[in-house]
Amino acid sequence: MTPVFVFCTLILVVIAALWYALAWPAWRRRRIVARSFPPEWEALLDSRLPIFAAMRPDQQDELRDLIKVFIAGKTYIGCAGLDVTDEMRVVIAAQACLLLLGRPTHEYADLHYIYLFPSTFRATREVRNEIGLVSTESRDLLGESWDNGRVVLAWDDVEHGVRNWHDGENVVLHEFAHQLDSESGATNGVPLLYTKAAYKTWAYVFGREFEALARQDPHSPSLIDHYGATNPAEFFAVATETFFEEPERMYAHHRELFTELSTYYRLDPREWQRRNAPRETGTGKLSAP
Ligand SMILES: [Zn+2]
Repeated sequence: MTPVFVFCTLILVVIAALWYALAWPAWRRRRIVARSFPPEWEALLDSRLPIFAAMRPDQQDELRDLIKVFIAGKTYIGCAGLDVTDEMRVVIAAQACLLLLGRPTHEYADLHYIYLFPSTFRATREVRNEIGLVSTESRDLLGESWDNGRVVLAWDDVEHGVRNWHDGENVVLHEFAHQLDSESGATNGVPLLYTKAAYKTWAYVFGREFEALARQDPHSPSLIDHYGATNPAEFFAVATETFFEEPERMYAHHRELFTELSTYYRLDPREWQRRNAPRETGTGKLSAP
């Protein structure tokens, strides 16, 4: 082989690698988006996603595209004997993709696997105490988000969340908010924001609201679930559930928090709630604080 041949081959390999790394994802996405949305998926959106009919047509179109890309790119794995169906794929994808509407996004690029259990699953992990001793801890969970490309969900709780849209509890919104949070490199309640200035107001508003929730009696009524007082990451996930499911009440009682989330998610779920009125007015598991 001549040096010129080796050099040219090397150049071609570099060009191919660059195309694969930079252009192929966008090319593949365009191909997936160009496919028609299956009518049976459309029927599932109509019947299973309560706010779908209240969304603007452009939001509905965007959600369909996001769902197509999400389902094509993620692997669903049934656990404990569960057979994953198209209904499960669409119901989970639709809720996860609500968090991406109107935002610059790569459809949870670092997420690859969704493990789905029929119901509550037992998670075992090692925990380290304050003096460094490691022990094993087991807990029953309804959902779990990992920063290594996995989300774990219990299907009966997914169904509960989508069936009771206005109770402020939704395991899919919760776990995928954690996924967004982890895109910043640390799951700490601060996702990637759009401007430097946004971090300052986010820290102020979220810090104040988190501390207020932490000071509350955990048995007292609260619009934002007391589980959010666990740490700032859980607070962001729980606040996301409230933002999408009880937006009017969040706007009334936590306006600055609502505004931060509305700026981040680039939408106002009150529009959907109003178009769905009157059935959701005054609903919710707890009275407002
Ligand atoms: Zn959580």
